[in-house]
Amino acid sequence: MNDIVFEVKNVKKIYDMGEVKVKALAGINFKIKKGEFVIIMGPSGSGKSTTLHIMGCLDVPTSGEVYIDSIKVSDLDEKNLAKVRRNKIGFVFQQFNLLPRMTALENVELPMIYKGIPAHKRKKRAKELLELVGLGDRIHHRPTQLSGGQMQRVAIARALANNPSYILADEPTGNLDTKSGEEVLKIFKKLNEEGMTVIIVTHDPELENLGNHNIFLRDGLIQKESFV
Ligand code: ADP
Ligand code: MG
Repeated sequence: MNDIVFEVKNVKKIYDMGEVKVKALAGINFKIKKGEFVIIMGPSGSGKSTTLHIMGCLDVPTSGEVYIDSIKVSDLDEKNLAKVRRNKIGFVFQQFNLLPRMTALENVELPMIYKGIPAHKRKKRAKELLELVGLGDRIHHRPTQLSGGQMQRVAIARALANNPSYILADEPTGNLDTKSGEEVLKIFKKLNEEGMTVIIVTHDPELENLGNHNIFLRDGLIQKESFV
């Protein structure tokens, strides 16, 4: 069995802004195995978000190859990239990206609506997921009625809605106080203990001990990679 779930091969990313070209990734290589808890670390501007967006099928590299479950995703068109994204990836953003007019329940239901899951089924699943993240008593709250930590937990429930194979989170605690951040990290830890492959991006060096596979980026290159 091939237990490599992500393979990133000589990936470069240049953002073409017309006159200015920004080299965000200068050729990075790594592999991620099923069940790992990966922390991608590095200072601001080192290419962490770019790396995670490419892994999460939200963007494609300028050159190099990316494989997810042996599917070459680096040269897929947007339609096929979206398909892989919907089937395999749960993405969590620093800014939560919840829809403000929808309740917690409706936010979690949304990806299931896109997938055509019938109403009774998706409501049941959304409730279960909100209970899983400790928000069983907040399902009819709207984002403005929730704390930052609670909003991020809704976002995690939403990311899990369509049973993704992998959870990717970009600075998921970046907008949270220490206590809420710890609660959010506890959820990722629990998911990982249950077998989920989790990949978290952070600029907080304190999170180094959280995972079992650390990748340090600097100026678009891997400076160090370590396994705990
Ligand atoms: P990090 O997440 O580590 O802070 P990013 O991956 O966001 O780093 O950015 C890496 C570099 O690419 C930075 O210099 C940033 O300014 C640039 N960059 C990121 N996104 C874009 C974009 N959409 N257009 C142009 N430049 C970008
Ligand atoms: Mg970033």
